[in-house]
Amino acid sequence: MALGCEGALTLTIKMRVSPEPSLFKELVNLMKRYRDALNHAIKVVIENKALSLGKAHKLLYSVLKERYGLPSKTAQDCYREAVAIAKSWLNNSNRGRIPRAKAPRLWLTHRYSYRVRDGYVEILGGFRLRIIGWDSRYDNYLNGDARLLIKDGKLVLEVSKRVPKPVKYVSRGVLAVDVNEKQIAVGNSRFELRIETAVEKALHYKHLAEELQKKYSSPKYSAWIRRRGIRNRVRHFHRKARNIVEDWVKKTSHKIVTLAKQHLCAVAREDLTNLVESLRKLPKEHRVSLLILSYRKLEYWIDWQCEKNGIPIIIVEPRGTSTSCPRCNSKLVENSYRRMRCPRCGFEANRDTVAVLNIEKRALTKMWGALTPLNAPQMTDVIPNR
Ligand SMILES: [Zn+2]
Repeated sequence: MALGCEGALTLTIKMRVSPEPSLFKELVNLMKRYRDALNHAIKVVIENKALSLGKAHKLLYSVLKERYGLPSKTAQDCYREAVAIAKSWLNNSNRGRIPRAKAPRLWLTHRYSYRVRDGYVEILGGFRLRIIGWDSRYDNYLNGDARLLIKDGKLVLEVSKRVPKPVKYVSRGVLAVDVNEKQIAVGNSRFELRIETAVEKALHYKHLAEELQKKYSSPKYSAWIRRRGIRNRVRHFHRKARNIVEDWVKKTSHKIVTLAKQHLCAVAREDLTNLVESLRKLPKEHRVSLLILSYRKLEYWIDWQCEKNGIPIIIVEPRGTSTSCPRCNSKLVENSYRRMRCPRCGFEANRDTVAVLNIEKRALTKMWGALTPLNAPQMTDVIPNR
């Protein structure tokens, strides 16, 4: 899923599809060849800087057809996808190794390589897949390019759709989102709620994976045990940890967006870029990597859900949100654990509440300028911390 530009959103609709059993093997075979061909194409495109389709065609078309046995149109889809992947990789200043597709897949150009008709997806090459389930809310919008993937042994078609961006409503207030290591505080000067992060829960599986790895790396186990079953189990635990975080992110952003809609609020969040950068400098621990994952995904999903639902989003400068007084801007001192106090005006609150109030204040200033309107939040009706 990606944020679209200029009045339209690009979103991805997932369809469970199933081929006739007799063709399943053949299709998966094609998807495997496609993956291998794609990985080869990405390498060639990057090494030769062949970022135009003409150049890529010259270098790759016949190789993809002959060495990987791809049909003509599929070979074209393959180098097109390789060029797209290479471009986004080259544009990423933080790039690591050359990207590789791990799972079998197939890229399908809309209309030329696939079409949806009468409850079936027809793929070039004579494959007909029955559609089992999909999200019908976007049926009225045209299909774009699609990807056929295998997830947990099942075939999934991801179809991209262009959907007009909803008009954003005029907000009556701000819903501030403060993110820290332990929890998310959501609220404003009228109410506040806390959501625990999923890091601890996910960490449990990371530890299980680690223990297993340690136990079976000892030489008393034969090499094949160490290699096959155990490795899969370890991988399963790592994946489970990741899924927990991703699920949590989606649920949490949904909760935030629903709350904002209910109260006709704009969502305000801190810019977490610097926080993520400073976490990256820490030693590579599971906790840190799970935190980075949570923060990055949460930012993305909050923004995306706001765009999709027409909710104004305001991103505020994060510096000092939990250490300056929301009432008089003085520097707060820590009174007891996570409890902050203003030496000048006597304001006192939990650190997370302070952050929520400051984020709200900064967002209101951004929305309405330095002149805060009369209905600005009054600090007196802050609900005391639970
Ligand atoms: Zn103060």
